[in-house]
Amino acid sequence: MRWSEQDAPSERGEGDEGGAAADLVLRGGVVRALDAAGSRAEALAVRGGRIAAVGDDATVSALIGAGTRVVELAGRAVLPGINDSHLHASWLGARWPRTVFGEADPGAAPQDPLVSNRAKRREAILRAGRLLAQLGITSYTEPGIGPGEDDGDTGCFHSEAIGIYRELADRGELLQRVTLLELHGILDGPSDVETVLAGIRSRAAAAPEADPAWFAIPGVKIFGDLIPLTRQAWTARSYDDGGHGDLLVRGDTLEQRAERLAEMLRAAHAAGLQVGLHATGDRTIGLALDAFAAAAAEPGAPSVRELGHVLIHGDLATPEQLRRMGDLGVWLNAQPGIAARTGEWLASRMGEAVAAEAWDYGAALDAGVLVLSSDAPVLDFDWRRGVADADARVLASGGADAGDADARLLALLRAYTAVPAEQDRAAAWKGTIEPGKVADLVVLGRDPFAVGAAGLPEVPVELTVLDGRVVFERAG
Ligand SMILES: [Zn+2]
Repeated sequence: MRWSEQDAPSERGEGDEGGAAADLVLRGGVVRALDAAGSRAEALAVRGGRIAAVGDDATVSALIGAGTRVVELAGRAVLPGINDSHLHASWLGARWPRTVFGEADPGAAPQDPLVSNRAKRREAILRAGRLLAQLGITSYTEPGIGPGEDDGDTGCFHSEAIGIYRELADRGELLQRVTLLELHGILDGPSDVETVLAGIRSRAAAAPEADPAWFAIPGVKIFGDLIPLTRQAWTARSYDDGGHGDLLVRGDTLEQRAERLAEMLRAAHAAGLQVGLHATGDRTIGLALDAFAAAAAEPGAPSVRELGHVLIHGDLATPEQLRRMGDLGVWLNAQPGIAARTGEWLASRMGEAVAAEAWDYGAALDAGVLVLSSDAPVLDFDWRRGVADADARVLASGGADAGDADARLLALLRAYTAVPAEQDRAAAWKGTIEPGKVADLVVLGRDPFAVGAAGLPEVPVELTVLDGRVVFERAG
């Protein structure tokens, strides 16, 4: 199909009607816009870092000039650049190729190298950027960097990384657009309510970043609970030891811990901050949704949808909670690799029935809240494997699209592109291939819809384009 003129955003540059030549043209392939309609085309043109035209080969070829680089796709596919919306880049850059799940015995694994100074932190971030560019990743969210981890074991989450990101963004050296959530508690540990509330106040008072298209800090990361596998997700169900888990907030009683977590969430919302909440248990998720709804009901407060809070992991979210998230405008940021690799482990802790109902991606898709990510370096950052694992999980869990492989694949690819752009509150200018949007693109060796989700991990990533620039090109 061709886009009609009225589909083009108003901020299109001058000369887009066919005057100035394109910087880059990709033609002779399958352009998958990954818009909601699943639009496709043969070719696209890029100018000034933006998508200038999308359409058939003849129309787009008219924009080729003396200085235009032309990539003959020869049947290959173009997708919007991948957005890994929960990925610890500085930690990844410090320890890759080691991943947490890749270690046979995590208890016996060597200690992470201590990333102890600014130069090492900078190199870790840059290294992660190069690795991610090789897989077509053009945006990510770094979920949890800040003063809470200034004395942390690895040094990877030190608040100094914020200034490094800012500097790399200013100098045009980032290979991905970065969204960062500031951490005021500690990673995977109990937080102190006064410390987190002070952090929320300081983040709310901070000046916006110079160019949020490259580096933005929309809010904070908060730990609600830990994970079901360690029996620390707070759940209405029972673990094999009879417990129900707990919250990761300091307090003398469960009631006090619950009230303090709710207070943090309401305060962040009232301050206009996006919250990325590490929440795996259904009771933690229910508490969070109640807190967000209460905060949004205050006079003059933003709606939940405006801030777009994110529940990270959400392993035990019930179908009813997922529907409520859709109604409110809260995202489920899920890692299909965790579902694929820990199902049996969860069954051993909580029983087969709970394990079968967990990670209900079918219901999450139906509710319109599913955002996919890798959590690298907990897992590796291969989004192709993520889509294949998610597809298997949707088939296992059911849902409206379970019977239609193409509809499912479109939804899951959107969960790695268009939907995380919404999580970033950037869907107006990134996440799909449409004229006027930024030219963040990935070229794949084959059309994903020709091989299906299960075949996607074998499809090579051939070219990555960021803001109209080629930042990775596969040799040969
Ligand atoms: Zn994580």
